[in-house]
Amino acid sequence: MKFTLFLLFALSMTTLSFGQMKDTGVYLTGYTIPQEKEVIGYVKSKTSAIKSITLGGEFTNAFSISKDQLITVKRKKLSASRDWYDVVLHIETEKGKTTETVRLLKDHFIRNKVIAHRGAWKNTGATENSIAALQHAVRLGCTGSEFDVHMSSDSLPVIHHDAAIDGVSIAKTNADVLLKMKLSNGEFLPTLENYIREGTKQNTTKLVLEIKPSELGKESSIALTHKIVALVHQLHAQAWIDYISFDYDVCLEVMKLAPYAKVAYLRGEKTPDELAADHFFGSDYHFSFYEKNPGWINESHQKGLTINVWTVNEKPLMEKLLQQQVDFITTNEPELLLTLPGAK
Ligand code: MG
Repeated sequence: MKFTLFLLFALSMTTLSFGQMKDTGVYLTGYTIPQEKEVIGYVKSKTSAIKSITLGGEFTNAFSISKDQLITVKRKKLSASRDWYDVVLHIETEKGKTTETVRLLKDHFIRNKVIAHRGAWKNTGATENSIAALQHAVRLGCTGSEFDVHMSSDSLPVIHHDAAIDGVSIAKTNADVLLKMKLSNGEFLPTLENYIREGTKQNTTKLVLEIKPSELGKESSIALTHKIVALVHQLHAQAWIDYISFDYDVCLEVMKLAPYAKVAYLRGEKTPDELAADHFFGSDYHFSFYEKNPGWINESHQKGLTINVWTVNEKPLMEKLLQQQVDFITTNEPELLLTLPGAK
């Protein structure tokens, strides 16, 4: 009897953990609750046509869904003290019934132009890409905090800029070894999961997630992309995360896995036309590319693309770019940029 009960318990736990990991193919066109408008986003499916949806969960009466699957908010039903709401979607598709929980986040993101490059570390004493650097970027009031993601040999995404930490290749080393390594500020090497869990405790600073191309080649870069998007889905963190990468295929893969995710390209050689055709959110290029192609700023804006410029640490160039109406500046000096007119 005891053994049967144990077996049932073990089986139910297995089902639960598989259930959490399963990708139903369902996504929203938006995950944030706007400050003034009612519209949140459409429910879509990557795998089969949706016939009908009903809302479930604790917060059902704060939201409604139309026949064409548009979720809207009933603002008066929201609580002043709560930032996000988990809503259960009971979906009937051509292939059968499925359930998906989505986290809807009040959009209190700060609208300035300041993105802290690898967090705010230079003037705070925090190590770059540490949890502390992320916390400082949030405390300063940056619109975004950027960070870099690599993957261990056993497929755990971790936060670090270089492909190696203290001479140890991340891609060729198991997570149990990597997670014992410490950053110079005493923190252990952060996992992506810990980083997202910390970043989603607030809703003023967006998390700008850079997917690093793997030293092991394209296949590993794409595998990392799948791991990352699955983890963001599992942690219900879609509203917080924007993606960037130097690898164009990685960017396209993110959009395939998470349509409507905001993705910007880093390398610099693609024109605004090309990025718009591939449904990018924007370009995120070294400042020299916009100097060589001064028409790109206006052209991008006309096509609905944002412009983010890296890595700008000197006041005169910050001022010039602000005058040119770029949307974001990625900097190691967020404190300086925050003092400049036009940055806020
Ligand atoms: Mg980076």
